[in-house]
Amino acid sequence: MSDFDRWLGDELERLTARSLHRSLRRVDSAQGIEVVVDGRTLVNFSSNDYLGLAADERLCAAASAAIGKFGVGSGSARLICGNLAPHADLENALARFKGTEAALSFASGYAAALGTIPSLVGPEDVVILDKLSHACLVDAARLSGATLRVFPHNHLEKLERLLRWVRETRPKARVLVVTESVFSMDGDVAPLREIVELKDRFGAWLFLDEAHALGVLGPQGRGLAAELRLASRVDVQMATLGKALGSAGGAICGSARLVDFLINRARSFIFSTAPPPAAAAAAREAVRLLESGAMEPAREQLWENIRALGGRVGETMPQSAILPVLIGEELSTLRVAERLRDAGYWVGAIRFPTVGRGQARLRIVTNSMHTVAQIVNVSNEIRIAQKE
Ligand SMILES: *Cc1c(COP(=O)(O)O)cnc(C)c1O
Repeated sequence: MSDFDRWLGDELERLTARSLHRSLRRVDSAQGIEVVVDGRTLVNFSSNDYLGLAADERLCAAASAAIGKFGVGSGSARLICGNLAPHADLENALARFKGTEAALSFASGYAAALGTIPSLVGPEDVVILDKLSHACLVDAARLSGATLRVFPHNHLEKLERLLRWVRETRPKARVLVVTESVFSMDGDVAPLREIVELKDRFGAWLFLDEAHALGVLGPQGRGLAAELRLASRVDVQMATLGKALGSAGGAICGSARLVDFLINRARSFIFSTAPPPAAAAAAREAVRLLESGAMEPAREQLWENIRALGGRVGETMPQSAILPVLIGEELSTLRVAERLRDAGYWVGAIRFPTVGRGQARLRIVTNSMHTVAQIVNVSNEIRIAQKE
């Protein structure tokens, strides 16, 4: 065995010993409420495809039409010759939907964060993040070289203290506050109105990741900023196209000047091949469906399902489609998830480093297409699995 192989093996063993090793499960069917995994059909309570759009025939038709006209690949980065009509159409639709002047799409939400945050702040500046911010926001903030400060989850007084501290010690620094609308592993919602007041009071900027709010919260699913009528006061809104929108990619929504700036500065945009036209066309169709009201019955059903599950599992009513059931210990969490799989339900077991050490949990994700029976049964199975 080479040194390299030995080192890899040791590292993997260490993960296994701490119940932190992860492996892939092969899915042999389309995204949906029932998926075929390792030859078995499981009821899916782990997908972010909240409205069942990932395999929707209207999105498939839009993607096929784009392939028919534009082919599969984009050929180059957007700034070279890869700026195809579906990209531009998607961005116009997203901007209108999010209530901003403009939008810019990226290959993923991760790439959107990684390109945007380091182009807005640098080593002289300060990024203030919510403790539970998604890994891509943390990585982007680190990449920027700015001084990082973290406030306890949704803790407004601590955020205010940090803002006051920056203004007293570095009056000239640019200050970027970074948070999410709906937190991806806790499913709760940021106190956005108060955060907007604070960042305005201290002359800071706000980056809001709407990944799990888009399609779920706000009028027609426009997100939390729209729900609270704050779209024009959030400096940078980030969206993902691979969750409720059922496609793939990420986007930044904001002023026309912001988008112009990012086209010139965001490295993950400039130095990366444009996303496939089919993905852009499918996401654009999802935005069209949401905006037209065609998805309102599905969104109402989603919220009905969220309330039905929330009434059976957990202590407080969920604020989004994500319902965490905290277990704590990594191994016990894996065992509970395994028992659920044996019973026919696929529920995510979330462990470090996605959440803190000893904060392992089930992450139950509700979908508009779940039936009442599936919700009742999974709740019962969770109760049984937790007791065993
Ligand atoms: C999924 C997610 C991202 C990353 O988006 P991708 O398109 O999957 O790269 C960013 N932020 C949050 C909160 C997410 O949940």
